[in-house]
Amino acid sequence: MFDSLSDRLGGVFERLRGRGALGEADVRTAMREVRIALLEADVALPVARDFVEKVTEQAVGQNVLRSVTPGQQVVKIVHDALVDMLGSDTAELEIAVTPPAVIMLVGLQGSGKTTTTAKLAKLLKKDGKKVMMASLDVNRPAAQEQLAVLGTQTEVATLPIVAGQTPVEIAKRAMSAAKLQGFDVLMLDTAGRLHVDQALMDEMKAVSDIANPAETLLVVDSLTGQDAVNVASNFSEQVPLTGVILTRMDGDARGGAALSMRAVTGKPIKFAGMGEKLDQIEPFHPKRVAGRILGMGDVVSLVERAAESIQAEDAERMAGRLAKGQFDMNDLRSQLAQMRRMGGLGALAGMIPGMKKAQAAMASGAVDEKILLRMDAMIGSMTVKERAKPELLNAKRKIRVAKGSGTTVQDVNKLLKMHQEMQSAMKRLKKMGGLKGMLGMLG
Ligand code: GDP
Repeated sequence: MFDSLSDRLGGVFERLRGRGALGEADVRTAMREVRIALLEADVALPVARDFVEKVTEQAVGQNVLRSVTPGQQVVKIVHDALVDMLGSDTAELEIAVTPPAVIMLVGLQGSGKTTTTAKLAKLLKKDGKKVMMASLDVNRPAAQEQLAVLGTQTEVATLPIVAGQTPVEIAKRAMSAAKLQGFDVLMLDTAGRLHVDQALMDEMKAVSDIANPAETLLVVDSLTGQDAVNVASNFSEQVPLTGVILTRMDGDARGGAALSMRAVTGKPIKFAGMGEKLDQIEPFHPKRVAGRILGMGDVVSLVERAAESIQAEDAERMAGRLAKGQFDMNDLRSQLAQMRRMGGLGALAGMIPGMKKAQAAMASGAVDEKILLRMDAMIGSMTVKERAKPELLNAKRKIRVAKGSGTTVQDVNKLLKMHQEMQSAMKRLKKMGGLKGMLGMLG
């Protein structure tokens, strides 16, 4: 899958790789091609636009790491943004609730709902779960029988068919049967339609109200590209989805649906259907898929290693400054950047009292990335002199910094106070024999 996008991006970076330095114009040229590649892969236009903007913002002006080429670095940035777009980590099924955990599958007719219901039931059964499947599809002739056949094939129980019942009635019956017979998981295969209509949505909402599903998974056919994305956006507006399953990924060379889906629904892609057979389903791995799209795993790990060694150098340089009791706004800024990168404390920040507080605040959700970015903007609005000597910041200068960073003087004061606390902690540290002495004490 994804061959064409991968080829296309490969060509873009090939051209970049030959160059010595990478300026804004180079990044913009490369990104124009990335954008075309994404659109050709059938990624939704707004999604492609956002993606390119984000990557451009990150790439332009970024210092190129020593020991990698600018092109390699751009590959890494594009890769990380792809992973981000696809949803970072593999998303698990959330079924740790009082049994029976209900998993409801929704989607259009022919998207692969019934097949996927059986595939998931088989997976869960292998996991030691006691699973029951029920088809609520009273529209398509023989849909319920189809699921019964799949049940026999996979040796998974199915709810006995009672003719003439409505989906809501079947759902009620399935719930009580699953409860009475001690099933861990109840899978509900809902009725599809040829296209999204209100009757379908109302029916799904009614079933959802009764069954209170732990998972409501939208099944979409990845081969339908943009249509899949439209369907997903329609569904996600009406039913509280918890995830998406992309079927027919075995035939999807373009991958646009996968790339847009997460952005459009805001929900993780949990599984990928890879064929008609009942064991052809895989958890969706964003990193693996991003790697496959780029086809440049070696470059990505090269840049990762380079970044690690440079972080180590930075940490050493910082340790030198700290040992002398120095801690200016530039140091604070690089620590904030590290916090942002790592989603937690920077290499040395753990030893700085003020930073520990900041981390606790971050962990509790009181400080999020936006606040870190705001602090960064404030430091960015200071002059070189002010950064080295923050005590220069008088009332007038504070107003200028606040204006320049879109913040308030109050915000600037808070930042200065934080810096001051950290700086005096540094001085105390120095009296205790510096960081080295403290490290020695810690063993
Ligand atoms: P439903 O109407 O949504 O319940 O769709 P079905 O489960 O009946 O699937 C429709 C067709 O798609 C069947 O022929 C399936 O075998 C096929 N199908 C489902 N998932 C996949 C998949 O991941 N890959 C491929 N190649 N075919 C699939």
